[in-house]
Amino acid sequence: MELTPHYETTITCIYCKEDFPTAKLRSKFVRVKKHESDFQPVYVNPDVNGIYYNVFVCEHCGFSFTEDFSRYFVPGTEQVIQSQIVERFVRRSYNGERTVFQALEAYKLALVCGNLKKEKNVVLAGLAMRIAWLYRSLDNEGQELRFMKMSRDYYINAYTTGDYSSTQMSEFRVLYMIGELSRRIGDNEEATRSFSRILEQQSTCLEPQIITMTKEQWLIMREE
Ligand SMILES: [Zn+2]
Repeated sequence: MELTPHYETTITCIYCKEDFPTAKLRSKFVRVKKHESDFQPVYVNPDVNGIYYNVFVCEHCGFSFTEDFSRYFVPGTEQVIQSQIVERFVRRSYNGERTVFQALEAYKLALVCGNLKKEKNVVLAGLAMRIAWLYRSLDNEGQELRFMKMSRDYYINAYTTGDYSSTQMSEFRVLYMIGELSRRIGDNEEATRSFSRILEQQSTCLEPQIITMTKEQWLIMREE
């Protein structure tokens, strides 16, 4: 039997606790050619796009989430999710292969659910950034800019509140994302502030790649 890039797995909804099937990609088919300066992965085969399947959309209640969502619901948020999401959900499944448009829809649902759930800013930033990447792949610059700005603002909140501290994101990486997304949306003042902050403390940074990337983007900004 020929192995396909997709396979089906079962996920338990973190909201209604029901099981549902969802497609995932076999990691050996997901080959990254390079990363853009905001860490967007560029795939060898654009049809096997790793980020299309990060969001799980529960076919029972409509709640949409990623592996980064915490299982904990802040008191009061479940009632809001019930009235805003579950009671309005038209039952449908996002299982199976996704087009870029279905992936976009799934990410937007997760962004709405994450907001209602009061998920960490750093998680919401990651969702908005992936939406921007999907629009980039469609050459829709207006929407790409809109979601990069949204992502940048969530990263600023993440930095201010420190809510990234229990995640894989380091302070330097959060600052870099603020700087690079600001540069991309043309907010050179904020980009300069964040990049300077990184370079001032570079001797304490354990991620040499971030320092190199900061210097590169700083130069690009100055040349522009
Ligand atoms: Zn559910």
